[in-house]
Amino acid sequence: MKENVTSCKEFEDCSIKYSALHVWLDNIPYIVMILLGAVIIYLAHNILLALLFVAYGAAGVLWFIYLICPFCHYYGSKACPCGYGVLSAKVMKKKDDSKFNKVFKRNVLAIVPLWILPVVASVYSLINIFSVSMLILTVLFIVDSCVILPWISRKYGCVDCPNKEECFWMASKGSKGSRESK
Ligand code: SF4
Repeated sequence: MKENVTSCKEFEDCSIKYSALHVWLDNIPYIVMILLGAVIIYLAHNILLALLFVAYGAAGVLWFIYLICPFCHYYGSKACPCGYGVLSAKVMKKKDDSKFNKVFKRNVLAIVPLWILPVVASVYSLINIFSVSMLILTVLFIVDSCVILPWISRKYGCVDCPNKEECFWMASKGSKGSRESK
């Protein structure tokens, strides 16, 4: 089967050019989530596990850039709302667009534990020794990762993304779907 490796420049939606400010705003909730998660894990366990969590958060970004973005319609384009597509074009060659759905579903699961591990660490800690500060940190983590981050993605970052149907929080909003080639 012929590979679909067309350039984003050939499509009308790629004329969108998100500013650096937009890209940062889109990334801030994820950065906050990783930092809050690391603090929770540090307080519940130790600094080594907290640093490993930060490394996992960074690896999650690289996972996207290396393994998912090369298959995306927005690879190499400033129409990618979080900027990963531009970074991906610097380190990876364009891959077959038509495989995006399969590649996304297979790889996105690798970062799901980032949303779960701090909560597990917090529950473990709260059961052993109740602490108001741990409770507050955990509420902040849940609000950021499960409310603010998906809200910004739905309303701001990913609203025009052709891949939104494959995203685990965009799909739940009944979006119209991705490009027909995917
Ligand atoms: S829209 Fe998502 S998958 Fe596509 S290039 Fe941007 S970060 Fe990667």
